[in-house]
Amino acid sequence: MSTEIEHVECLIIGSGPAGYTAAIYAARADLKPILYTGMEMGGQLTQTTDVDNFPGYPNGIMGPEMMEDFKNQAERFGTQVRFGYVSSVDFSAKPHKVVVDEMKTLTADTVIIATGAKAKWLGLPSEQQYNGFGVSACAVCDGFFFKGQKVAIVGAGDTAAEEATYLAKLCEKVYMLVRRDEFRASKAMVHRVLNTPNIEVIYNTEAQEILGNGKNVKGVRVINNQTQQESELEVDGFFVAIGHKPNTEIFKDWLDMDETGYLITQPGSTKTNIEGVFACGDVQDSYYRQAITAAGSGCMAALDAERYLAALND
Ligand code: NDP
Repeated sequence: MSTEIEHVECLIIGSGPAGYTAAIYAARADLKPILYTGMEMGGQLTQTTDVDNFPGYPNGIMGPEMMEDFKNQAERFGTQVRFGYVSSVDFSAKPHKVVVDEMKTLTADTVIIATGAKAKWLGLPSEQQYNGFGVSACAVCDGFFFKGQKVAIVGAGDTAAEEATYLAKLCEKVYMLVRRDEFRASKAMVHRVLNTPNIEVIYNTEAQEILGNGKNVKGVRVINNQTQQESELEVDGFFVAIGHKPNTEIFKDWLDMDETGYLITQPGSTKTNIEGVFACGDVQDSYYRQAITAAGSGCMAALDAERYLAALND
C-alpha cells in the first residue's frame, strides 16, 4: 500500500451518466474533481448499441460513443478522469478516506457515489452472444426496435410486469415467461398484464437457449419445469427483467441501504446518511433507471456537494 495520501475537494466514483454529469458540474464550479471510472468505464451504456431516448441526439447515438462524449465534456472543464476502482472506503471521520485499487489512499472533502447497478442475467451463453442484438435488459431503452414484432420477456416481478405492458404497446405479441405458477409482482401490475390481450403469460417455464442466425435473435427454446416439455417460440427480441443489483458492496458498513442494497438518499436530495457523501444515478434509483434521470441526479449531487463545501467555508 502506497503511503502517499492525495487530498481532493470532490471525489467522484463511477463513470456512467451520473458520474460524468456530476463531474461536469463540479469542474465548472471549480471543485477540481477527480473521477475514478471503475472497471467498466462508461457504465451500463457501454453495453448497449443505439441510444435513441437521450435528448440532444436527434439521430440517436451508440451507447459507448455517448459515454465518450460525456467523458470529453467532463475533461474539458478540468475533471481528472482516472481508470481505477475504489476497493474500500472509510467514512468514519472527515476527510473521508477512499482506497483505489487496494493501493492508493485519497482523502476527500466530498464523495459523490455514482457506481450504478447491474442488470441480472440468466447466465445463458446465447444471452451473452446476442446481447445488444436482440437481447436486452431494458424495455424502455430497446423496445422501440421491435415495433410490430414478437418478443419474449423473462421475469415475474413489478419490473417485468411493467416492461411487458410497455412492450405490448409497441409489439405485436409479448410472451411472458414466468418460472413459477404465480407472479411476484403486485396485484395491480398483474391485473394489468392479464388484461393486456397481446401478452401471453407462460407459467412454470424457463428459457433454455436464445436462438438466432448468428446476427439476430430469431427465437427462444423454453422448457416447462413441471412436465420437462421443451418448445420453441418465434421471437425477434428477448428481454430479461429479473432484477438489478446496485454496486454498493464497499459501502455496506457506512451507508444506509434498502434490502436490495440501493443507497438511501434524503428525499429531494442526493445526501446520504454521512455528511459530505452524496449518491446519484442508478445506485440510489431502482425505479426510473434511465440515462437521463441518472444524469439529472448527477447534476444534483454536484450542486449538493458544492453547497455543502460552501457552507463549511462560511
Ligand atoms: P424482483 O426481485 O421483485 O423480481 C424478480 C423476478 O425475476 C421474480 O419474479 C423472480 O422470480 C424472477 N427471476 C429471478 N431470477 C430468475 C431466473 N433465473 N429465471 C426466471 N425468473 C427469474 O425484481 P424487480 O426488478 O421486478 O423489482 C425490484 C423492486 O422494485 C421491487 O421491490 C419492485 O416492487 C420495485 N418496482 C416497483 C415498480 C412499481 O411500483 N411500478 C416498478 C418496478 C420495480 P420468482 O418470483 O420466482 O423469484
